[in-house]
Amino acid sequence: MVRKPDGTASNLLGRLLDFVQTQLTDSARRAKSARTLVSGILTSNIQGVIAKYPAHQREVATWSETDFERFRADLEVFLRGLAGFQTRGGAIVQPIEFSHISLYPMPQRQRSALAPLLVEGATRDVLWFQIVNLVRFAGGERLRVCLADDCDRMFVKVGKREFCSDRCQGRVNSRRVRERDRKEGR
Ligand SMILES: [Zn+2]
Repeated sequence: MVRKPDGTASNLLGRLLDFVQTQLTDSARRAKSARTLVSGILTSNIQGVIAKYPAHQREVATWSETDFERFRADLEVFLRGLAGFQTRGGAIVQPIEFSHISLYPMPQRQRSALAPLLVEGATRDVLWFQIVNLVRFAGGERLRVCLADDCDRMFVKVGKREFCSDRCQGRVNSRRVRERDRKEGR
């Protein structure tokens, strides 16, 4: 399924999952779409936290394919940790380490609303901070690992869905039917 990039937080979360799980042999194309995604995270207002700094964009533009792959691998471990807790109540986790992050409340028009925060720091730290905001406050509680035995894809759960795709759902359903038929046949 192709998602239209609309810039909203839950859309970004879906795109993050696609990014960590899609195997693209064309590494140049992969790096290009990764750059777009990372830039999207760094320029979005994520639950009232904003990181708008042209310097981050300039730095991301210099990331190599290896840099993106390293980021992808770290991100996959982090998301699998979260999805594992949501699915099975446990997972192998790695801490996310920040060297320095500053948060500044920003002026706003409506006095009753919570002031937006401007986040400052090294690009990598700011990026991870925004990813944490994204998963904590924009659908991270719906992160799951597919329950089909032969699949370990992560997905964002919608409704009662327990599988990453209709294909996995269908495969498990037909296996259940076969097992039931076999038991009844005895
Ligand atoms: Zn699956």
